[in-house]
Amino acid sequence: MSKAAHYLQEHLLGEVMVSSDARKYFATDASIFTLTPSLVVYPRGEQDVRKTARFTWQLAERGRIIPITARGSGTDQGGAALGSGIMLVFPAHMNRIVELDPKSGVVTVEPGLNYGRLEQTLHTHERFLPPYPESYEYSTVGGAVANNASGDKTLKYGATRGFVKSLRVVLANGEVVETFRLSKRELNKKLQLQTLEGEIYRSFNALLEDNREVIEKLDLSVTKNSAGYDLLDIKRRDGSFDLTPLIVGSQGTLGIVTEITFETEVYNPQKELFLAEFESVEKAVQAILELRATPQLPSAIEMVDGQLLALIDRLNPNQLKDIVSKPFPAVALLIEFDDEGRQRKKIVRRTEKVLSELASRVTSASDLAGQTRLWKVRDAAASVLSHSEGQLKAVPIIEDGIVPPEKLQELVSGAYQIFANERLQVALWGHAGDGNIHMQPFLDLSQVGDRQKAFRIMDTYYQLIFSLGGSTSGEHGDGRLRAPYLPYLYGPEVYELFTKVKQIFDPYGTLNPGVKVGVRMDDVRPLVRSTYGLEHLYDHMPHS
Ligand SMILES: Cc1cc2nc3c(=O)[nH]c(=O)nc-3n(C[C@H](O)[C@H](O)[C@H](O)COP(=O)(O)OP(=O)(O)OC[C@H]3O[C@@H](n4cnc5c(N)ncnc54)[C@H](O)[C@@H]3O)c2cc1C
Repeated sequence: MSKAAHYLQEHLLGEVMVSSDARKYFATDASIFTLTPSLVVYPRGEQDVRKTARFTWQLAERGRIIPITARGSGTDQGGAALGSGIMLVFPAHMNRIVELDPKSGVVTVEPGLNYGRLEQTLHTHERFLPPYPESYEYSTVGGAVANNASGDKTLKYGATRGFVKSLRVVLANGEVVETFRLSKRELNKKLQLQTLEGEIYRSFNALLEDNREVIEKLDLSVTKNSAGYDLLDIKRRDGSFDLTPLIVGSQGTLGIVTEITFETEVYNPQKELFLAEFESVEKAVQAILELRATPQLPSAIEMVDGQLLALIDRLNPNQLKDIVSKPFPAVALLIEFDDEGRQRKKIVRRTEKVLSELASRVTSASDLAGQTRLWKVRDAAASVLSHSEGQLKAVPIIEDGIVPPEKLQELVSGAYQIFANERLQVALWGHAGDGNIHMQPFLDLSQVGDRQKAFRIMDTYYQLIFSLGGSTSGEHGDGRLRAPYLPYLYGPEVYELFTKVKQIFDPYGTLNPGVKVGVRMDDVRPLVRSTYGLEHLYDHMPHS
């Protein structure tokens, strides 16, 4: 056993593992990459996280870098949950709901808590956390915060960043900070501290002050964004200051989150759901734009394209039986409203009018059973992800691009063209109301040709995204996969700012290096695995 493992075993309450099985398990996430950690730690509390960080900091001061990667359930599709050093695995023990105030709906949790478990608990208090990702049943709240995750309800309610009230964060040297919105006076106190925290506030505050114009370039015209570091809402005109929006979405590269306080929303189980079928992408996009223009946004506008319907029909003919029939439409949209009674009726009438002019067929459901049936159309995308055709697997390489909703049609037709040029099957689905479309080409990563194709497709697709004023990541984050595109997305000035932010928080580069900044395409190419699978979704971790 290495000296590092020995030291940690002696000093931590949580388990430290170096077995090849444990390390192999954490060598993959839901991305196309593989990277084996040198050891695995299951922290039993914040103290374990602090001690681990302090240990790597002290080694780094002597010139030895051992990276730390925080890990939730490992469902990250960009390789952000992989690392070559210490894998700090949160779901095993740091998975509690610490406090829940049913009146205000404010809830404090540990990062390893399963998102689905939190939602279940909140529902019993008629609350919910709206930006849950589609993977919520098997992913953690810590991963959602680190990725600034979002999902079908984000159209109306926004992404994770908007729901995080405060955080407890372990810094690179093991200090703990609490982040929340500080008044100007409170900020001044922080600026006096002779600690890493004080150094961070001083340098970061100066960086923001010196680069106001550059920071404005971060404001892309997309409805949500998980690419890069969010520097837009740290310092406000009134002098107040909050590190929380920066840590959210930073993928464990600036600090390790040990506690999260979320605001939540009132949960209304009474909903109205439409399944609208369209003969063309153009008509579907027109309907989306008209629905977006109404004062009350739907709680979801989700899309599945005709190619996906045909694929599902081939793989599992019963799944869509009596819901959508052949010939399949070019696009099917699921449009949901969760407003209260009278309000909902009003919007529903307006929606019926929009759809009667544009859709070729509309089915609606007001009861839970009927809605669950219709949602099957959207849920069908999941079966594509786990499907393989021989050695071909649906791989996540261009799965999270987002464009302004008015550019959606160009995105879809551009994507179809890319797939046609590469002679690949295509299937699109996703959060169409937000302009965020998922697609995963079927490739065989054991073949050199397909690996080259993967990188060619990425280059062409992200050029398309840039040309439409979009972002490389609407919700999944940059990870390793999209990190090399950040300089092209934001330009060199913004990218340099990101590099400086990383330097301020993590001067030795121990926090999840190889993710977000300082990543070139040549760094990630050798990490592509030869077979793609989702083995990490199976839970073998110890639980307390
Ligand atoms: C089928 C499928 C569907 C998906 N659908 C969506 C979707 O709709 N929306 C969406 O946003 N994402 C989606 N994802 C991506 C992913 O599931 C989510 O982003 C999820 O929130 C990640 O949670 P996790 O627990 O798996 O995190 P992990 O994959 O373990 O980690 C993700 C990132 O969080 C960091 N991290 C984890 N814990 C901490 C911590 N305590 N402190 C600091 N950093 C930490 C990791 O280092 C890593 O950078 C999907 C993935 C799959 C496979």
